[in-house]
Amino acid sequence: METGGGEDCCVKVAVHVRPLIGDERAQGCKDCVAVVPGKPQVQIGTHSFTFDHVYGSTGSPSSAMFDECIAPLVDGLFQGYNATVLAYGQTGSGKTYTMGTGFKDGYQTGIIPLVMNVLFSKIETLKDQTEFQLHVSFIEILKEEVRDLLDPPCLNKPDTANGHTGKVTVPGKPPIQIRETSNGVITLAGSTEVSVSSLKEMAACLEQGSLSRATGSTNMNNQSSRSHAIFTITLEQMRKLSPVSLGDSSPNESMNEEYLCAKLHLVDLAGSERAKRTGSDGLRFKEGVHINRGLLALGNVISALGDDKKRKEGVHVPYRDSKLTRLLQDSLGGNSRTVMIACISPADINAEETLNTLKYANRARNIQNKPIVNRDPMSTEMLKMRQQLEFLQAELCARGGGSSSDEVQVLKERIAWLEAANEDLCRELHEYRSRCTDVEQRETDAQDGSPCPLKSDGLKRSLNSIEQTDYQMGENITGDSREIDEVAKEWEHTLLQNSMDKELNELNRRLEEKESEMKLVGGSDTAALKQHFGKKIAELEDEKRTVQKERDHLLTEIENLASNSDGQTQKLQDVHAHKLKSLEAQILDLKKKQESQVQLLKQKQKSDEAAKRLQDEIQFIKAQKVQLQHRIKQEAEQFRQWKASREKELLQVLQRKTEEAAMATKRLKELLESRKSSARENSAVTNGNLTNGQSNEKSFQRWLDHELEVMVNVHEVRFEYEKQSQVRAALAEELAVLKQVDEFASKGLSPPRGKNGFARVSSMSPNARMARISSLENMLSISSNSLVAMASQLSEAEERDRLFTNRGRWNQLRSMADAKNLLQYMFNSLADARCQLWEKDIEIKEMKEQLKELVGLLRQSEVRRKEVEEELKLREQAVAITLARSASGNLHNSLEHFADDTSGPPSPMSVPAQKQLKYTPGIANGSIREFCVSSEGTPWAVVNEKISSPRTGWKIMEMEEKSPPMAFAI
Ligand code: ADP
Ligand code: MG
Repeated sequence: METGGGEDCCVKVAVHVRPLIGDERAQGCKDCVAVVPGKPQVQIGTHSFTFDHVYGSTGSPSSAMFDECIAPLVDGLFQGYNATVLAYGQTGSGKTYTMGTGFKDGYQTGIIPLVMNVLFSKIETLKDQTEFQLHVSFIEILKEEVRDLLDPPCLNKPDTANGHTGKVTVPGKPPIQIRETSNGVITLAGSTEVSVSSLKEMAACLEQGSLSRATGSTNMNNQSSRSHAIFTITLEQMRKLSPVSLGDSSPNESMNEEYLCAKLHLVDLAGSERAKRTGSDGLRFKEGVHINRGLLALGNVISALGDDKKRKEGVHVPYRDSKLTRLLQDSLGGNSRTVMIACISPADINAEETLNTLKYANRARNIQNKPIVNRDPMSTEMLKMRQQLEFLQAELCARGGGSSSDEVQVLKERIAWLEAANEDLCRELHEYRSRCTDVEQRETDAQDGSPCPLKSDGLKRSLNSIEQTDYQMGENITGDSREIDEVAKEWEHTLLQNSMDKELNELNRRLEEKESEMKLVGGSDTAALKQHFGKKIAELEDEKRTVQKERDHLLTEIENLASNSDGQTQKLQDVHAHKLKSLEAQILDLKKKQESQVQLLKQKQKSDEAAKRLQDEIQFIKAQKVQLQHRIKQEAEQFRQWKASREKELLQVLQRKTEEAAMATKRLKELLESRKSSARENSAVTNGNLTNGQSNEKSFQRWLDHELEVMVNVHEVRFEYEKQSQVRAALAEELAVLKQVDEFASKGLSPPRGKNGFARVSSMSPNARMARISSLENMLSISSNSLVAMASQLSEAEERDRLFTNRGRWNQLRSMADAKNLLQYMFNSLADARCQLWEKDIEIKEMKEQLKELVGLLRQSEVRRKEVEEELKLREQAVAITLARSASGNLHNSLEHFADDTSGPPSPMSVPAQKQLKYTPGIANGSIREFCVSSEGTPWAVVNEKISSPRTGWKIMEMEEKSPPMAFAI
């Protein structure tokens, strides 16, 4: 391609601030990005940046972005200018959203769909004067490999087993390669270039490519955040120019055609977040390195081009360091109009990455490009001839018109010849153009084998992963045990409440039973009954007596009659005897009746006793019930208090973390600032003001120590940062629950049961809830400020580190002697550090052992404690029952009754005597625990003992003294 008059133009940078998204809100993130209204200025913490445009937040509306930034590039395309749009930012910052690379049918937001619309409507209006040809390609760079998104069979099938992308396996289709033509144009050999003639066709390409990319990302760990996607539109046009007036003889038509060819790259870059030292597994680390290859190189290219001084010095621009930078060579510092869109999240949690993005983008603003109109060589040639023609025509006029018509004739002939030649060349060009793709295809087919740029950095990685697992293990232990504690406590509480509820129900049941029994027994009026029985017996007695009297009377009469016996008397005697007999029978009957009455009376007495017993039992059960209710209340209160203290603790943790974080941040700030001055000091040293070798050596050593201290401090701040975000997430979660409960309460509804945390919170009084909500909100905003402050220092440190790496950390070492001295010093401190590390490892191992032992011990004692408690409970119950029995005064009967009534807990006597318990745990400095054993062998107290670790002297636990059970009645 040839130059058509280059113009200087800087890379334009726009910032796109997306709103807070659901996930961030859920974590309680605050918006920490401020856009100065009416100005393209972004503020975050104490930092302020100015760009060409700022969209979103309180800046211009996102909808203005296309007209202001992108539409001019599309216009330029029609004038033959290349253009590039780069979306830069961390994963989740909105690059894909902004570019529209995640294009789906019916989902048409984003730059690419808008570009397509404008492109085709423009073509529609121009199609009369110009012939257009459009091509699109869509590729992805993943792990330094270019993948064709428009050629699915060629897409590397990811090997899901180990997550590594397989090499291209489709036979006959070699990997895509980046080539540079003789005139410096970068081309992709082997990638599909689809010729499109309608909006629909182009949209289909975008959709197909997006889909290929998305499919890949489900197989691999969100691939899209690690790969760069480039959608390229190539616009070729053959324009018919207005003919140059050549008098009457009109020249050949094709003489007036102009060929322009321009490309528009639309780039959705990989996530810019740095691979964090923590939390990335080995695989991700490796991939991270690859992404970084592209973005790192891009950053270096940007700094090489963005620095005025460097540019003037003609510093080497490392385009060749990655495929991405090679492909974008023209877009940065070359023949392209380029717009970079820095996408950022406003969430405080992302403050560090946001700051990094803004700094990166800010540097890109200084890049000077030289866009030119891209004409075909043929059309350039033609333009030259046309210029020549115009010149000759002018000359002709100057020479005085008709005087030398011969000359004119000659010139005209020459023109005709030139035009003919031009026409031939044009035809040839067409021919070549159509064959070009074929040739290229064949060329790439001929090539074989794919370069394998994967270098094994196994040792480094394994070291890293060891460190990580160790760190994570530590994390897990502390984190989990806390959580387990909490869960266990809640679980215990629920169990206890449940069992007590059950107990209460059982008591109620029994009470009911007894009461109904009681009704049966004592249903009638006992005194009246007794009186009735008594009266009845007395009546019977009376009756008996009269009958007996009558009988006696009869007997005497019979005797009298017997003494003077005659026929008459004999008859009377018989009558009397008969009467006597009947009287005897009557007496017998009365006696029987009387006996049965006595029996009844006895039974009545018995049932009275039973009633009394039942009454006692009812009283006892009622007392038990009251006791149990009291205990339930007490337990609930205790649990509430524990919960409240836990919650308070959470706030305290945050407060402490915030303070620690503030300290660490302050230290880092001081260190960074003092480094600035010490760097100056150093440069003074090396500038030769001080020639004393000794002091030189010392100052280098100081400098090195300082550097290392900064590294450690950065690590510390990063650690605090992670912790802070975790605590904050916990607070946010609680806040969300509280707010939801509040909402339910305001609608007069009860919150859903069983949902995480709801039961706990719904027991709070509205006032307590409000107080907690406001305290949580307060803490969240403190946390947010602290996060932003830390992010600011971290980003600062990173920036300095980057400068150092670029400039070379060791530039100030000017002589071999200096270097050797410093190396020796370094070696010594490294050896020191390693030895210390070894010692710490040993110490950790020992402590882990101890911990294991202690945990075992704790478990044992916990089991024991439960047993003892169970024991104690049984005893208390038995004793209480026994007491009740003895009070009712019918001990034996009652016990018997109790036994078949409840078939409940065995009497204390039935508990087998326990072995004398006395053991000493195997801890070195004689931490001894003993159970005191009661007379039956049941342990009733745990001696208060502190168990301490021999080395650390930590107080591990302190057992509470148990009160001995009440005196036994039996
Ligand atoms: P990236 O490509 O940078 O990883 P995405 O474009 O996938 O990020 O965006 C992450 C999430 O944020 C998506 O759910 C997207 O819908 C949402 N998002 C991004 N930018 C905006 C915006 N300007 N307005 C609303 N939502 C957005
Ligand atoms: Mg994306």
